[in-house]
Amino acid sequence: MSTTMKAIVVEEYGATDKLLYKDVPKPTAEKDTVVIKNHCIGVNFIDNYHRTGLYPLPLPFIVGRDSAGEVVEVGEGVTDFKVGDRVVQMSGSSYAEYSQAKAASVEKISHDISYDLATAAALQGLTALTLVRDSYPVKKNDYILVHAAAGGVGLLLCQLGKHIGAHVIGTASTDEKCALAKENGAEFTINSSNEDITKRVNEITGGVGVHASLDGVGKATFDISLAATRRLGSVISFGNASGAVPPISIGVLAQKNLKLMRPTLYNYLATREESRRWFDELFSLMKDGVLNFHIHKVYDLKDAKQAQDDIQARVTTGKLLLRP
Ligand code: NDP
Repeated sequence: MSTTMKAIVVEEYGATDKLLYKDVPKPTAEKDTVVIKNHCIGVNFIDNYHRTGLYPLPLPFIVGRDSAGEVVEVGEGVTDFKVGDRVVQMSGSSYAEYSQAKAASVEKISHDISYDLATAAALQGLTALTLVRDSYPVKKNDYILVHAAAGGVGLLLCQLGKHIGAHVIGTASTDEKCALAKENGAEFTINSSNEDITKRVNEITGGVGVHASLDGVGKATFDISLAATRRLGSVISFGNASGAVPPISIGVLAQKNLKLMRPTLYNYLATREESRRWFDELFSLMKDGVLNFHIHKVYDLKDAKQAQDDIQARVTTGKLLLRP
């Protein structure tokens, strides 16, 4: 059996030409880990941050956060998994034919959930779910501003917001993306390329603003989120698609007694129990048809550069997948 595999490796930080499609040693199962033969790999905006070094990983590294496939090797100390189990993992090093994953960050998937759906659901689905349940617990009749509402996380936020009974105001950069956000649950949409977001939010909310802004765009929209949120409201800054938010003076929050949070998904999954609870809710929302996944495109693993070029160029909607 071959001891090497194909993977996308970053040896130095930089643009997408730093994504190298190479032969690397196939991982083996170490203590408390399993090896997964990947059937589907997720592309997430965070992969760009790792590649550019905005979120630095030690070099060289295999790119990617999540994948789904079958367990092919089980390390010492692992009792939850056996060879042949269908699983999804968010341990990293996923742009590869095989991934070694910490058993604690692996979850079994039932036979009615395909590898593609499990991959589409894992990181982006759990992000959307933890945002609306914990970062700002969305309530019926709340007004919620969702930036990049036609993106991977964005479409799921629209679906969850509608399911809860909130009024979702989604922003996106084209009319086509706005239409897709509406199909996925946004009650109102704002084309961020040619409309004034704050002005439109004020019109929609009778001048008081939204209960919460869910902002994964970052630098370009942070001030808009502050302006569009009502007195006593919450600004949840969960990403940097347009660049990192510069340091702020906390005094700006005093103008409206705003709450500001900067969550990361992995801090919601610190223990096995927490992780299982979130995955249980995610899978049950999928089975109930509340969460549906819009797959933009499935790329070959070797075309990972194209996938990252596309997500950065803002020409994608929903989820991008790679096929090893
Ligand atoms: P998306 O599919 O949403 O892609 C990013 C979108 O951001 C684009 O489609 C684009 O939509 C919008 N955007 C606005 N400005 C820019 C810009 N200058 N460059 C590129 N895109 C821009 O990606 P994901 O769903 O994977 O992630 C969404 C956000 O959520 C990211 O910031 C990501 O880092 C964050 N995230 C955070 C997590 C956490 O734990 N905190 C976990 C998962 C994701 P448009 O053209 O419509 O404006």
